[in-house]
Amino acid sequence: MGVLSKARNFERVVFAQDPKAELRAIIAIHSTRLGPALGGCRIQPYRTEEAALDDVLRLAESMTWKAAAAGLDLGGGKAVIMADPARDIDEALLRAFGRVVDSLGGRYITSVDVGSNVEDMDEIRRETRWVVGVSPAYGGSGDPSPITAEGVAVAMRSCAYQVWRDPSMKGRRVGIQGVGKVGYHLAGILSKEGAEVVVSDPSVDSLGRAVADFGVETSPPDQILELECDVLAPCALGGVLNEETIPRLKCRVVCGAANNQLAQVEDADALGDAGILYAPDFIVNAGGLISVADELIGWNRDRVLRRVEKVGRTLLDVFHIAQVRNIGTARAAIEYAKQRMRTISALNR
Ligand code: NAD
Repeated sequence: MGVLSKARNFERVVFAQDPKAELRAIIAIHSTRLGPALGGCRIQPYRTEEAALDDVLRLAESMTWKAAAAGLDLGGGKAVIMADPARDIDEALLRAFGRVVDSLGGRYITSVDVGSNVEDMDEIRRETRWVVGVSPAYGGSGDPSPITAEGVAVAMRSCAYQVWRDPSMKGRRVGIQGVGKVGYHLAGILSKEGAEVVVSDPSVDSLGRAVADFGVETSPPDQILELECDVLAPCALGGVLNEETIPRLKCRVVCGAANNQLAQVEDADALGDAGILYAPDFIVNAGGLISVADELIGWNRDRVLRRVEKVGRTLLDVFHIAQVRNIGTARAAIEYAKQRMRTISALNR
């Protein structure tokens, strides 16, 4: 498939380079129907431009659904910088990228993603105001992970209500795959609530911190997906739910923070067939986006947490659509987002 046909549903795809700064970047704006396209900047040493383009298109589209379903006045976009975050990132490259973002005049707003961090956003901020996820010193909200974890916990309570008609996580056994920035906070919230938490992480430091702080059980990384539990929370990698892993799951609910948990959208149907309730990842992990987006109007923690609470109601609406229309929950979540886009963008001006 050619580049142009791949990008046919996109409003704009910008290829940018600045040889002096060794910048090679692509910004994809999928939709601005609800507002400016907000999405993080992923920095990764892609092997080919084709691979970078595939990634940025896929990620930008999912931001459209995430923002729409989260009730935000934002569209979907994403940026990728083709570089090694451990070696190639310096002031010149980040500022050159900031100038590209600025040239789009606010149609695209950048933020933190895999390979970039809050300090990088502070550098980009020197060239453009169209950046969020900057540090508190620049009026930002800093690391959104604790808020993302709050959202995952809210979503989990809705799943518990859907399945057991009781939203409490007390006494529920929850397996968390990955106790990094989000998984760690999630383990804390759930332990405090009285859940039986089992965590897994190849990083001895991350695992040790969760055990020391919350007294949680551990599981080897190659066994966490097969843990007998009420809820499995993937909080590490994408693609963990696929035709190989789904038959091995021994949980009743999957609800976690990781992006793109399903290898393909049909895998949600396989989960449904196996009697497992799948909470679509982009609904569950919207807390981070809700938090950084709030910087656009002056970040306010109470307002952010109120919006994050709504994730629970949204999820119940998505489960309802899935039931009524007899479709998988992943498809139902996209339907929910599209419905809001149709309704809001059809309003009279
Ligand atoms: P992170 O890098 O801080 O944590 C990921 C953790 O997973 C690390 O501790 C890593 O060692 C561990 N891990 C890697 N492979 C593993 C395996 N096979 N089994 C178990 N653990 C493994 O990342 P994060 O910020 O906590 O994000 C986690 C996921 O949530 C990512 O998919 C991210 O895209 C998504 N997400 C994060 C946010 C946020 O606010 N940070 C928001 C939305 C979505």
